Amino acid sequence: MSKNYRAELIFLLGDPVDGNPTGAVEEAAFADKNLNYRYINCLVPVERLGAAFQGVKALGGRGLNLTMPHKIAIIPMLDQLTQAAQLIGAVNTVYLRDGKYIGENTDGKGFVQSLVEADIPLQGKVVTMLGAGGAARAIAMECALAGARHIHIINRDPGRGQSLADALNQSGHTKADFAPWQPDMAVPDDTDVLVNGTSIGLHPHGEDYPPIDYDTVRPGMAACDVVFNPARTVFLDKCAAKGAQAVTGLGMLVNQAALNFNLWTGEEAPRALMMRTLSQELAEE
Ligand code: NDP
Repeated sequence: MSKNYRAELIFLLGDPVDGNPTGAVEEAAFADKNLNYRYINCLVPVERLGAAFQGVKALGGRGLNLTMPHKIAIIPMLDQLTQAAQLIGAVNTVYLRDGKYIGENTDGKGFVQSLVEADIPLQGKVVTMLGAGGAARAIAMECALAGARHIHIINRDPGRGQSLADALNQSGHTKADFAPWQPDMAVPDDTDVLVNGTSIGLHPHGEDYPPIDYDTVRPGMAACDVVFNPARTVFLDKCAAKGAQAVTGLGMLVNQAALNFNLWTGEEAPRALMMRTLSQELAEE
């Protein structure tokens, strides 16, 4: 068969996108599998999302990642949503199937997979989620689908926090409550898995950490961060100092990248290579 020089195109649409390393991770995986795919970071301001998506369709794009501020705005433009994307109300990944652009959300699935890898069960457990933004919402919903018994939501903005607790209760998969964030508030006693689902501690503010009472973190809890740059956050250090098992945001990032790779290419992702590439990219910063 003659060689095919036509590349399959995957786009990341967001604002900002300059510091997003996902493309390097996906491109390493494409090369490893000998796939003629390209992953292209595109800076798309909010008012240009519609035009950008028309462009993706015109070019026959094979898939997308969406990041801030497009994860919700893309929804009405898509042909179909998966059940998880519907429940979460946001899309981070789009893939093409039978001519249809289908919206999925793999952020929470990547998180749940990172707990499986760390041997931390969710079935029947209590999760405390700090934050109620896009990542927190996706994680909380997937924890519910993975069998978490109760989810406490703690968030600064009460409207957003209550709306996530309501969505979780309405899902019928778990019970949830919401508490507005008070400075240095206690972690609820029954917590098994504590998650920093906020952007506090993200580079270049790596010295920041969520204001909770770290004396209420105890051995036996798992402490997980969505922040992946730096991988080892002050939040994780402070929780580990109290005996909690720390889980970085790197696993979540690599796992969702691996799930997306599979959705776009139909092939098993070379996960170990993807993790090595991500670690190298972050170390080079
Ligand atoms: P959003 O903007 O949707 O949500 C941000 C959340 O952080 C909100 O709950 C917000 O609270 C809270 N927050 C921010 N600053 C503060 C503060 N000073 N005090 C209290 N709460 C605060 O962002 P995303 O959910 O999309 O992203 C959150 C983080 O998750 C980012 O660091 C992102 O890089 C990371 N992420 C990691 C992924 C991974 O694979 N590891 C994947 C996706 C995201 P409020 O509602 O009150 O504003």
